[in-house]
Amino acid sequence: MSDRLVILTWHSVNVLGNHYADNDLIAFSEDLLLLDRLGWTILPLESGLQRLAKGDLPDRAVALTADDGSILDFDSFPHPTCGAQLGLLPRLRRLLVEQRLDKRHEPVISAFVIASPEARAELDRKVTGGLDLWPDHWWREANGSGLMNIESHSWDHNHDVLEVTAQRANRRGDFRAIETEDECRIEVDQASAWIERLSGRRPRFFAYPYGQSSDYLRRDYLPARGAGLGLHAALSCEPAPVSRSSERWHLPRYVCGRDWNSPEEFARLLADAST
Ligand SMILES: [Zn+2]
Repeated sequence: MSDRLVILTWHSVNVLGNHYADNDLIAFSEDLLLLDRLGWTILPLESGLQRLAKGDLPDRAVALTADDGSILDFDSFPHPTCGAQLGLLPRLRRLLVEQRLDKRHEPVISAFVIASPEARAELDRKVTGGLDLWPDHWWREANGSGLMNIESHSWDHNHDVLEVTAQRANRRGDFRAIETEDECRIEVDQASAWIERLSGRRPRFFAYPYGQSSDYLRRDYLPARGAGLGLHAALSCEPAPVSRSSERWHLPRYVCGRDWNSPEEFARLLADAST
């Protein structure tokens, strides 16, 4: 039994080349195979946290998450400079079909999506060259796949490239600026309602954009209202394993590219996280 759960994060939109270090999709496949070889067990985020709370977590347990909700979470995509890319879910499916992952795993990817269609369209125009990388037609099918759950990454990410966000003074690029009740209602409540409407399932987890949260959101708003909204916990990007003493509305997790850039670094991170 273990008293810690490791949560890992990839960004499927991070495709700059076709190598582990510059392509989160390639890193994802290699990382899953390494987890398998090193004796880790992949669990859904929800049951991993439940089993941690009950004292029933297997040794070396890990949960998979993906942030920002590009189509590459769910599907393949013809990348304009890097060629055809197999998305996260097709990669997981392929590993399962080829029986390259042991039967002990219960792999589910928690995909944290940006709710606002206008924000996603603007991000697509300004960040990803109008490639239509942020549609939402796949959310319902993802939830029905048994291998992916659609969760909330806020209404508009308070993203710095957007003209206007929910932030009261239009101060963007930092989610700590979301610190009033009105702002939180848009970024959390409205996001959950919209994601439920489009995906058929209410989000159970919230991932803070940029891993950031104001004291108000983390210590007042979510503890008071989160459960009523159907949320079980919120995830930061603080690099550490989750333990039973972790703050429910600020669970730590590791991010590919920031916390590891090679299989060797990934193995070292896992070794450190399990001791
Ligand atoms: Zn994000």
